[in-house]
Amino acid sequence: MKAAVYHGPRDIRVETVPDPALQRPTDAVVRVVNAAICGSDLWPYRGIATNWTAGSRIGHEFIGVVEEAGADLRTFKRGDIVAAPFSYSDNTCDYCHAGIYTSCRHGGFWGGADEDGGQGQFVRVPFADGTLRPIPAAVAHDEKKRASALTLTDVMSTGHHGCVRAGVKAGSSVAVIGDGAVGLCAIISAHRSNAARIFALGHHAARLELARAFGATDIVDSKDPDAAQKIIDATDGGVACVVEAVGSQATMDLGVSIVRPGGTLAYVGVPYGVSTFNARKLFSDNISIAGALAPTRAYIDELMTDVVLGKIDPGAVLTLRLPLEGTPDGYKAMDDRSTIKVLLEISAV
Ligand SMILES: [Zn+2]
Repeated sequence: MKAAVYHGPRDIRVETVPDPALQRPTDAVVRVVNAAICGSDLWPYRGIATNWTAGSRIGHEFIGVVEEAGADLRTFKRGDIVAAPFSYSDNTCDYCHAGIYTSCRHGGFWGGADEDGGQGQFVRVPFADGTLRPIPAAVAHDEKKRASALTLTDVMSTGHHGCVRAGVKAGSSVAVIGDGAVGLCAIISAHRSNAARIFALGHHAARLELARAFGATDIVDSKDPDAAQKIIDATDGGVACVVEAVGSQATMDLGVSIVRPGGTLAYVGVPYGVSTFNARKLFSDNISIAGALAPTRAYIDELMTDVVLGKIDPGAVLTLRLPLEGTPDGYKAMDDRSTIKVLLEISAV
């Protein structure tokens, strides 16, 4: 089969790799219909994540059809249409039972040296019953809703996790830092929870326009040196909930500076180079820090219901469609920010 392979910074190639096969009776082999390129895929692409070796498989957002089902599967069978969270999990251990599927004692992540990546024609899925979630036929056969279903594997569920962890509820004041796909999806989640005021912080006009369409009430240029003060003034002391969706020291500091006393900052951007928090400010103002790595499996069903009903349209963040062979161009477009997020069209439903 064909799949995207990481060969080094700015060197992604689509090449022939071994076909996956069932290894355990709890496995499934999924034929990938659509995959996406994630902002976090850019960390190895840009050479910032240095633990990637040449030959690693890449991609962790995909939906598809069960091609082969292991003998022990009880939930899924050949032909079922499924979404795969960005990590696999057994759904039987204590961490899974606590809803922290990303810490599953037997779980793991797609891609790398040992697992198939999502950006390829097929993926062997360990613990398929514990990992996969069903996609209703009405979603799978509607191109727009199918794109939204794809976002539930990571960015929409991750943005939602940020809002859950930041305690967003009806009437909340919320600031979302970052105008990438996760930040934009956090705005959808905050709007869905009937937050009263939603500040979108970013610096890319087209993305901030989408933020407005998703429900942001206030747009703030994150590069404006007075950005924090403007939000503090507009809210008489800061917002109750911050969702930080970038993962840098500067954005984390900005987030802490705009939380009102008693509020919460939830960070869902993969942190790179974040080494300090303003502990004195957190202490003095009773600010909570929450996170982090989203157990997306926990949210897929709930959010899928809203996709079915047409209440949310997170698929709108997928602004470029390419065939699998175009994957290297997709990375390039996301790297230079000429597109928000890439959807790969790999096979028919
Ligand atoms: Zn587990």
